[in-house]
Amino acid sequence: MNKVELREQLTALHQELPRNGLVTWTSGNISARDGDAMLIKPSGVTFEDLTPESMVRTDLHARRLEGTLSASSDAATHAYIYRHLPHVGGIVHTHSPYATAWAANAREIPCVLTAMADEFGGPIPCGGFALIGGEEIGAEVVRVLKGHRSPAIILKNHGVFTIGPSPRAALKAAVMCEDVARTVFLAHQLGNVQPLAQEHIDSLYDRYTNVYGQR
Ligand SMILES: [Zn+2]
Repeated sequence: MNKVELREQLTALHQELPRNGLVTWTSGNISARDGDAMLIKPSGVTFEDLTPESMVRTDLHARRLEGTLSASSDAATHAYIYRHLPHVGGIVHTHSPYATAWAANAREIPCVLTAMADEFGGPIPCGGFALIGGEEIGAEVVRVLKGHRSPAIILKNHGVFTIGPSPRAALKAAVMCEDVARTVFLAHQLGNVQPLAQEHIDSLYDRYTNVYGQR
């Protein structure tokens, strides 16, 4: 994918955030690794006003390289994650409502659905509180997700970060995270949530990771 196509793809993927009910107004952002730099949403621009040219290119210390707008206020977090997790090619951040409700309770989302075992390989972990702006959030994401099966983390009192080999994979994880956060929330209203055995979680995750889909 060339640089123009990457900007076009990143712009198109951003439209999926409001379409899937993951964001309100200008909150939420997606970034893509671009060589030894990254492309990220500009700060404070509504999703319908985003264009390929408006995406901001920064180095992996969130210093702007290309673009006239300021990068998202979460740029330092994204940059930190790319620096410390070399396999990550895309990152999504949202305050999607059900997942963030779990975050406001500082509760991990327990793995009680086969779809969760497939996609996340266990619970979606909850990281500690960190203030926006510096690298504390990125450090917490890396600390929790490094070596974890889950491509998603919820952060206490804040929201969701998801990672993937590509921005599209990270977006899928963000959509699935909100979906299971909602279903498990609803399940708790009924009051008798049944655990999934670890051996079943392991076998579901293995099948989905290695066998499912088109080869
Ligand atoms: Zn946020």
